Amino acid sequence: MSQIPTRDELAALDAADAFIGRHIAPDAAGIADMLDAIGVASLDALAARTVPDGIRIGEIAGLPAPCDEHAALDELRALARQNTVARSLIGAGYHGTRTPPVIGRNVLENPGWYTAYTPYQAEIAQGRLEALLNFQTLVCELTGLPVANASLLDEATAAAEAVAMARAACKVKTNTAVAIATDIHPQTRAVIATRMAPLGIPLADLASGQPEAIAETKPFAVVLSYPGTTGEVRDLRAEIDAAHAVGALAIVCADPLALVLLTPPGEMGADVVVGSSQRFGVPMGFGGPHAAFFATTEANRRLMPGRIVGVSIDAAGAPAMRLALQTREQHIRREKATSNICTAQVLLAVIAGFYAVWHGPEGLRRIARRVNLHARLIAAAARAGGHAVMHDAFFDTVTLAPAPANTALYRAAAEAGFNLRLHPEGALSISLDETVTLAELDTLIGLFGGDAATLMGGALSEIATSLPLALLRGEDYLEQAVFNTHHSEHAMLRYLKRLEDRDIALNRSMIPLGSCTMKLNATAEMMAITWPEFADIHPFAPAAQTQGYLTLIERLSGWLAAATGFAAVSLQPNAGSQGEYAGLLAIRAFHHANGQANRDICLIPSSAHGTNPASAAMAGMRVVVVACTKDGDVDVADLEAKIAQHGDSLAALMITYPSTHGVFEEQIRRICELVHAHGGQVYMDGANMNAQLGLTSPGAIGADVCHLNLHKTFCIPHGGGGPGIGPIGVAAHLVPYLPGRPVVVSDGHADATPTSPVGPVSAAPYGSALILPISYAYIRMMGAAGLKRASEVAIASANYIAGRLGPHYPVLYRGARGMVAHECIIDCRGFEASANIRVEDIAKRLQDYGFHAPTMSWPVAGTLMIEPTESEPKDELDRFCDAMIAIRAEIAEIEAGAADRTDNVLRNSPHTAAEIAGDWTHPYSRAQAVFPLPFVRAAKYWPPVKRVDNAYGDRNLVCTCAPLEAYAEQEALA
Ligand SMILES: *Cc1c(COP(=O)(O)O)cnc(C)c1O
Repeated sequence: MSQIPTRDELAALDAADAFIGRHIAPDAAGIADMLDAIGVASLDALAARTVPDGIRIGEIAGLPAPCDEHAALDELRALARQNTVARSLIGAGYHGTRTPPVIGRNVLENPGWYTAYTPYQAEIAQGRLEALLNFQTLVCELTGLPVANASLLDEATAAAEAVAMARAACKVKTNTAVAIATDIHPQTRAVIATRMAPLGIPLADLASGQPEAIAETKPFAVVLSYPGTTGEVRDLRAEIDAAHAVGALAIVCADPLALVLLTPPGEMGADVVVGSSQRFGVPMGFGGPHAAFFATTEANRRLMPGRIVGVSIDAAGAPAMRLALQTREQHIRREKATSNICTAQVLLAVIAGFYAVWHGPEGLRRIARRVNLHARLIAAAARAGGHAVMHDAFFDTVTLAPAPANTALYRAAAEAGFNLRLHPEGALSISLDETVTLAELDTLIGLFGGDAATLMGGALSEIATSLPLALLRGEDYLEQAVFNTHHSEHAMLRYLKRLEDRDIALNRSMIPLGSCTMKLNATAEMMAITWPEFADIHPFAPAAQTQGYLTLIERLSGWLAAATGFAAVSLQPNAGSQGEYAGLLAIRAFHHANGQANRDICLIPSSAHGTNPASAAMAGMRVVVVACTKDGDVDVADLEAKIAQHGDSLAALMITYPSTHGVFEEQIRRICELVHAHGGQVYMDGANMNAQLGLTSPGAIGADVCHLNLHKTFCIPHGGGGPGIGPIGVAAHLVPYLPGRPVVVSDGHADATPTSPVGPVSAAPYGSALILPISYAYIRMMGAAGLKRASEVAIASANYIAGRLGPHYPVLYRGARGMVAHECIIDCRGFEASANIRVEDIAKRLQDYGFHAPTMSWPVAGTLMIEPTESEPKDELDRFCDAMIAIRAEIAEIEAGAADRTDNVLRNSPHTAAEIAGDWTHPYSRAQAVFPLPFVRAAKYWPPVKRVDNAYGDRNLVCTCAPLEAYAEQEALA
């Protein structure tokens, strides 16, 4: 080299390792091949033929230039340093906890767990289904109720779901209010209030220990807290009985660690128990994500929100798990659903379940007793220091009665590095947790006015008992083998690995699920979520300690606003469904503010995702379905008719763009204008944003509000069915109606600022803040150019697949100029007549080839919707297409009479290792069954069970691990 490179040349060397080329998998040659096959000259030409004229935008403005992984991590580290990790003993539903390292590294940090999808294809999801069954078993044991679900979004929304369920379950239809105990966590009350407002349901405050008030109020539900927010543990039987006497359901919000020692609410007669499993090994994370739990009685199981894992049998009669009672869910019941929950908190539920597996009943009891003993010592110290302790019966939280001295104590604790909770009326709480060390306990005892040396080792009678004998549970719980086996690290490590290996996640093969955008979750994006500066922050910590988070939130909100073409973004909703609900609440509040409370009709195309109508119903709207044309577009004539018919009652149109059929509708502008012309607002479901970024935007098409799924477009992993984040972006006129903040602050100042006429939709002000760094890192590393290219390559990949599969399977919908957007739907309905093959047979046969099936029978029954994303290498796209084409050839053999119409590779799929090792009676070979293509042999995935029988499990609902254990015992004997 004759010359030292210039600065620009050096910069070009840096860029060689840029992230964009790692995230977008097809290389230049691969992209060129795909474009050739599609028959377009360039990515730009493809975008021009796919996205209608008139809604195209230039590159997203206002994003920083792209950077590589190391620069992004440095930037995140700088933000992390602006957070202060104080010891938060604030409580209020969030506690310090220790994630067992074996779980932290092998589950939370392991793509084999975090990149999996919701277990709709049960056979390739037996590992996480078992982990969720452990979670449900744990919840049933702790709550004393027979049925539990596999998680909800947070404790507050779970409580709101319980109230909604109680309304449907309560037989006394004249009971119209909900009674809420005044000692419930304030954010829980606030979220219930938000949920009840559009339904016109009043909240009645219920002072503790006043069952007679229930008889007067005659509510349909009573919501109690166990322990209360200031720590009090009391017998709830009188209130529960009073609730039942008026026909109301009794809902108890409970702390799972307290339940380790206390009489389960189910034994006291509670109908529903909800709570947060956060302190079972999941970091506070500035508010989330954490798995809420929900348990209820047999009588209510069909009304229960969320997903339930149940045990059924497979085609060979062995026990196998799958999601039970799917007919309850929003995608079936639509606007009649009582809940819109779709994405929940699977990964966090898995972790909480494993935490119990790791510690076992004795370990959990030791942790709970230790926490309780610490609290008793603090109470004794406080009494010695002359403070008035409010409750004699408590588990982990000691509250001092309001007193001027509390402020000084709060400050002294802060100086020593502890965040306590100073209540607005002057009481002071401290909540002990499993992370408190003995040295810290010494300091705290001193601060409260006691002397650690005299207290410790003194007579136990010196410290009040704290838990009433009548409220203690027996020791026999969690007796299932799984909670009593994996206590050495090797045993645990191998158990985790065994379950992981049963599943297909993105670390094995592409997951081409349409509408779900199973793209790369880059390692660099994931790293910050386990840094203590992000993980160990309490959501109600003083703002001075959370500056790094607040800056990150401000920047990310700004970038997402730029990407959507909107004025502002709220990151609070914990999933897409919650974004829909929050967005519709904003529209509702806007109409009310304009004196148009009469506007309550929500138009929803028939092709919409089931969460849309369910969310509209939750927002107090009446759903009117708009027809679709045979090409899959919104039927504009029908839309006009429905608008005319409902006139002044029109509130909103909810529309997905590009459509759920995977097409950019040409008429979108006109559709939005029609709605606006008649006083309505346009809600855009942004699940398909991966086709839009940098090409068009909700703002550009004329929408007023949209939600994004950060767990789809913006790289947050699906976690096997959550976590997710569903932020909403809104146009300027809706900014005042973004979700308000939950009314909780720990430093004595009530956050009374009603930031919005709409209340909070999540328990924490910024929802699942801990996982925001993932999307931050993605946008930061891609920049505007990278995001645009990602959309283009996602569209190219989908069109390439449509082109390769087109000769073998009909591609159902295409845009005006022959292009699909970022996904395509292939029609499998014809094979029923020609070969006795249903779409499910194709989906299950794909498992023999090592693939997770595309989205099945949605939005059109009998079809597969394929979404490849930009981050699948062309080789992987080809492998998938090869598998689909080979399956088509297998179908052709049946059609031609060369293969049997019932005993064939498709109908018998998936094939297990046990099966081919046993007697073989099929007319095809073992090799045809399990090694249908050469690449399969090279890296064989073995489905652990044969096809799961859904109906059997629904007829015999079991949602705990008992049958699995019975079967294992029986096998061991045989
Ligand atoms: C995924 C999805 C939703 C729901 O999002 P969640 O995060 O699962 O609640 C809504 N609409 C469409 C079109 C989707 O694909």
